[in-house]
Amino acid sequence: MCMDCIFCKIANGESPAETVAEDADVKVIKDIHPKAPVHLLVIPKRHIESVAHLEADSGDVIAKLIYAAKHIATEQGLRGYKLVFNVGREGGQMIDHLHLHLLGGWERPEDRKKGFSI
Ligand code: AMP
Ligand code: ZN
Repeated sequence: MCMDCIFCKIANGESPAETVAEDADVKVIKDIHPKAPVHLLVIPKRHIESVAHLEADSGDVIAKLIYAAKHIATEQGLRGYKLVFNVGREGGQMIDHLHLHLLGGWERPEDRKKGFSI
């Protein structure tokens, strides 16, 4: 664990967050400033700075994050969604602990015509 890392603190329960799901390796929380109707962050409990810091043998971390995102998206009834890794400051990464953004819940154009909304 990295002492000054907010996502390490959230991952080990030292700092509060709205937790949606959790297992031994991964925690899924609600983003504090959502940029979509559903905006979750899938965070590995182990500190890795970013995709740029992955090693050849850390690939299963990414598989776990994507699988957790897929599982939660299905559970939340999302029919489509975006999965985003920001990498480095120039890639929009502000928190230096690997995380996968799960974004979704927008209205589908065909539902809008029928007057449905999510
Ligand atoms: P990034 O720009 O890819 O590093 O994304 C960091 C995300 O973390 C942003 O969307 C922030 O809104 C979100 N965030 C920052 N602090 C917290 C927090 N304490 N709890 C939940 N989400 C957070
Ligand atoms: Zn960390």
